[in-house]
Order: sequence, then structure tokens, then C-alpha cells
Amino acid sequence: MDMPITDYLDEILDEVRDNDNGEVADYIPELAAANPDRLAVSLCTTGGHMYSTGDDDIEFTIQSISKPFAYAIALQELGIAEVTKVVGMEPSGEAFNELSLDKDTNRPMNPMINAGAIAVNQLINGSDSSVEERVDRIVDWFSRLAGRELQVDEEFCQSEIATADRNLSIAYMLRNYGIIQDDAQDAVLSYTRQCSILVTVRDLAMMAATIANGGVNPVTEDHIFDPVVSRHAQAVMASAGMYNGAGRWLAAVGIPAKSGVSGGLIGTLPGQIGMATFSPRLDGQGNSFRGVEIFTILSEVMGMHLMNNTGRVNRAVRNWNSENGSTIIQLQGAIDFRASENILRGAIQEDLEKRVVLDLDRVSGFNRVGRRIILEGLRRLTMDGHATALFDPDNVLPDPDLGDGTYPEMLTEKPFVTSYEMEVDTP
Ligand code: GLN
Repeated sequence: MDMPITDYLDEILDEVRDNDNGEVADYIPELAAANPDRLAVSLCTTGGHMYSTGDDDIEFTIQSISKPFAYAIALQELGIAEVTKVVGMEPSGEAFNELSLDKDTNRPMNPMINAGAIAVNQLINGSDSSVEERVDRIVDWFSRLAGRELQVDEEFCQSEIATADRNLSIAYMLRNYGIIQDDAQDAVLSYTRQCSILVTVRDLAMMAATIANGGVNPVTEDHIFDPVVSRHAQAVMASAGMYNGAGRWLAAVGIPAKSGVSGGLIGTLPGQIGMATFSPRLDGQGNSFRGVEIFTILSEVMGMHLMNNTGRVNRAVRNWNSENGSTIIQLQGAIDFRASENILRGAIQEDLEKRVVLDLDRVSGFNRVGRRIILEGLRRLTMDGHATALFDPDNVLPDPDLGDGTYPEMLTEKPFVTSYEMEVDTP
């Protein structure tokens, strides 16, 4: 059996592929030359499993998606109180490159707009750090988040620096109010190099999954940020990550997110997944057109709105028993995306008997995607030659049509197992 999740992602890309609305950003000369048709999506679970499709090995500059991670680095290095002295956490409702400060405190409103991001960049590695050392340090942090060595695209950076008047005026404004101490040119160089770090969507999904996972990279198991830092960074992403579209985004899509002008978009679902899309054409707010579409579909179809409450359990398989030609899998709790992924991965890893029985006695319910993935898993097992059966005394999975008009066998008695020893504990 192949994992159906990658197929779902492929279907979603097919659904949005023909949408050629929007334009690639052209205020940075190198960006204007980007191939506008690139399209990719990656999803990394907090269990450390990556599902990815499309142009997922193409590198592009991280741009504003660097902002929540740079913010988290500063929070980790200095603590929330110190960082909050130079940058607020209120949504500004303004464009990303707005020349604005909080009227009462003279601080930038939040770290997701350029003014806040330039101020945050200056905190990393100490405010008296050289540009070189600071950028090296940021690249080190980002590499740990992505689980591989990243680097700065110097040529791209120079192209942006040559046209960086707006960011320079922001830096002069910050200097004027004592928010940054460094020379404005150096501050913009440091920030622009941060924005010019090259990543793929897979890197971004792993970086996002790390903050969704309380600061531990789920693949390398590197402890990078404290849980409170990860939570704080995501909270500010939720309220300000989509600039002047942030409120609508949170209500309609409900996934803490951050976009970048090269067409990347990341999102986090705390405790579940980090995800990323890449598609260079942008809408009026500077957010990737098809990226927004993909996130909207993921949110709706896969039940990923943050405000949905599914009452999740961590281990969806209560017991796993293979004897006398039957594998009996006892499930428990609420079966959502993460739980169904966990169950099917168990089914892929373990040797299954000819007959596969799911005991749903202890299941409290399925959400839409949990139901869809389990039924699809059963359909694929049937196609692989297994006989499938369900014990569902409370009818938590009504009408279990496998999608092709066939049904698993419905048991009227609880399947008997002689041993409760073998447990599957796939993370
Ligand atoms: N480097 C870009 C800038 O500062 C990042 C902006 C973005 O991605 N929205 O203009």
C-alpha cells in the first residue's frame, strides 16, 4: 500500500495548477526572473515524517518567511521581555514594507513587518555583533531548523541591496528612535542577507514543523527552541503573519502562517504538522496566490483550522495483535489526521495477516480527514488482497463505503485476542 497523503497533495496541486492569477514580485530584480509556474507543497508531521510533491527540490530565497524564525532566535537568545523592548506584538494591518512605528512606544508594531524584522535581526548575536558574524549565526540556526546546511545567495542579496531604498528609510527611522544602534546600511545588509538564505519547501516544512513541535526538530531531534518560544513565535504569526490580510486569514484558514515575496508560504498546526507551499505569483498583499489557495483547501478539506477542536489522543493504536491469520488492530480516541496517519503507517510497517480487523470499540469519533484516510487505507488493503473487517458497536464510522461501493465485513461480536502485549508505538 502507498500512503494516500501524498496522493491527496498531488490532487490539491492539480486543482490549483491552472490558476495563473497574480504576478511575480518585481521590485527585486532577481525575483522578476523567477519561473512563475513552479508549484510545490510539503507537509512534515511532528512525528518527523515528510509528505511532499511538486517542485519540492527547487531552492528559492526565504525572504519574509525568515521573520518568525529570526524572531524565535532573538527570543531564545534574549528572552521575551528584552525582545519586547524593541518590537511589539500587535497586528499592524499594514503592508509589509510600511514606514510605521507604534505611536506611543516608537517600536515597530510586530516582527513580521520589515520594520520589526530589521529591529529583531539587530538583536541576534548581540547588538554589537558584526554583520558577518550575525549572519553566520542566523545561517547556523536556520540550518539546524532545516536539518541541513543552508547558505546565502550572495548574488540575490546584492540585487536586492541595489534597490533597497525603502528598507534603508525604515532603518534610518529605527535609528532615529533609538530602536537600532547600528549603521542603517549595515542593518539593511544584515537583514537582506537573512532574507537571501536559500531553502526548498521541504526545508520550510521541517522548519515549520520544528516550531509546531515545541522547538524540537522532529526529524533530527535537535532541541532548538524552548516550547514557550515556539508558541510565542506561532502566536505572532497567527495575528500578523499575513500582513494586512492577517485577520481574514486567521478566520477563514485558521493556520498560523508566514508568506514571502519569492512565493513561499509556511503554516503550523501546533502539535501536528508544519507545512509549506511554493508558487511565485503573488496577490495584492504580497502573498502567494496558489499558496493561499492550497492552504485554504488543506484547511477545509483536511480539517486543519486551528480553532477546530478534535480532542486528540497521542496514540491511536491501543493494541495490535496478529494470530491465526488475523491482524486485529484496536483503535482508541478521536481519529483525526495525525491519528489516521499513525495507524496507516503502522499498517505499512508491520507484517499484516490475510485478514485485517479494526476494532473501533474505544474510538470516540472520526473527523472528516480521519474517516477519509482510514477508509482509503482499508480500500488499499483490500486491493492488496487483504480481507477487511470492522467492529463498530457505537457506529462511529457510519456507512463505511470504501469509495468504490464495497464495504468491509461488519462484525457483530468483539474480536477476541489472546494477548495484549504487542503494541505499536509509531511516533
Ligand atoms: N526582503 C524582502 C523585503 O524586505 C522581504 C519582503 C517579503 O518577503 N515580504 O522587502
